[in-house]
Amino acid sequence: MRIVYVNGHYVPENEASVSVFDRGFLFADAVYEVTSVLDGKLLDFKGHYERLKRSLNELDMPFSMTEEELLAAHRKLVAENNIDEGLVYLQVTRGAADRDFVYPDASTPNTVVMFTQSKSLTGKPIEELSMKVITVDDLRWQRCDIKTVQLLYPSIVKNMAKKQGADDGWLVRDGVITEGSSNNAYIVTEEGTIVTRDLSHSILAGITRASVLECARQLQMKVEERPFTVEEAKAAKEAFVSSATTFVYPVVQIDEAVIGTGKPGPVAAKLREIYIENSRATAI
Ligand code: PMP
Repeated sequence: MRIVYVNGHYVPENEASVSVFDRGFLFADAVYEVTSVLDGKLLDFKGHYERLKRSLNELDMPFSMTEEELLAAHRKLVAENNIDEGLVYLQVTRGAADRDFVYPDASTPNTVVMFTQSKSLTGKPIEELSMKVITVDDLRWQRCDIKTVQLLYPSIVKNMAKKQGADDGWLVRDGVITEGSSNNAYIVTEEGTIVTRDLSHSILAGITRASVLECARQLQMKVEERPFTVEEAKAAKEAFVSSATTFVYPVVQIDEAVIGTGKPGPVAAKLREIYIENSRATAI
C-alpha cells in the first residue's frame, strides 16, 4: 500500500481523505503537476515548480508552500514508496468551502495532495514504442496554458481513440493542430526541420517540450515553433509527442495516414536518447 501526502500528513492511501466541499472536486478549481522519477530522482523539478506557480497565479489562487517544502515532500514520497522509475502527482486546490461560484476568503487553506505511481519509463527500446493517433476537434476551453484538473475532454478523447483502435488524439482547432490530449505534438518535415506549435493560451507549455527543444538545439537540429495543419502532419517524415511520463514518443499513424516508414524515425530516436541522458544527469 502506498504512502500518500495530504495537507502535510503522510498516510497510507486508504486513510487519506479530502472534504466533499473541496473546490477541486466541485468546480475543478485546482491545478496539478506530474514530475517523473528516474533512478529514484526527480526530473525537471524546477520547471514543474515554476509552472505550478504560474498556474496558481493565473487563477489568483493563494498557496503558501515553498519550493524547498515541495521538493522535500516529493523526495520523501519517492523514498517512502521505493520509487525507482515512475512519477509524483501533485494537486493543489483552492480548498474546501460552502459551495459558491465566488471564491472563498483567501485565507481558506488549500488542499494539497501528492502521490506516487511506479511505472517503467525507460524499459523498452525505441523500436517497441509507437502510437497511432486520431485527429479530433479541440473542444477545450481557451486557457489550455493553465494546468487545471479539468481533464474531462482529454479523457473523452482518449476513449474515442481507444474505441477506434488508436492510442491518443491530436486536437485540431481552425485546421491546425494544437497538441495531443496529454502531450505536445511535433512533426519532422522532408527537410528535417522539427515543427511544434508555438506557445500561447492554446497549448500547455510542456516542461518536457522545453527540454526536448533544448536537446534539438544542442544537436543542431532545425526547430520551428509554429502552427501546422493536419495535412502537413499526415505528409510529415516523422511525428512524435512529448510529456513528462512518455519523454519523446514516436507517432507512426495519424488517422489513416502512415507516417514515414510506419516505424519510429531517427529524429525521435535521437531526441529520446539525448533527453533521457540529459535528464539522468540533471535529476535531483
Ligand atoms: N499538453 C497537455 C495538454 C498535457 O496534459 C501535457 C502533460 N500533462 C503536456 C502537454 C506535456 O507537458 P509536460 O511535458 O510538462 O508533461
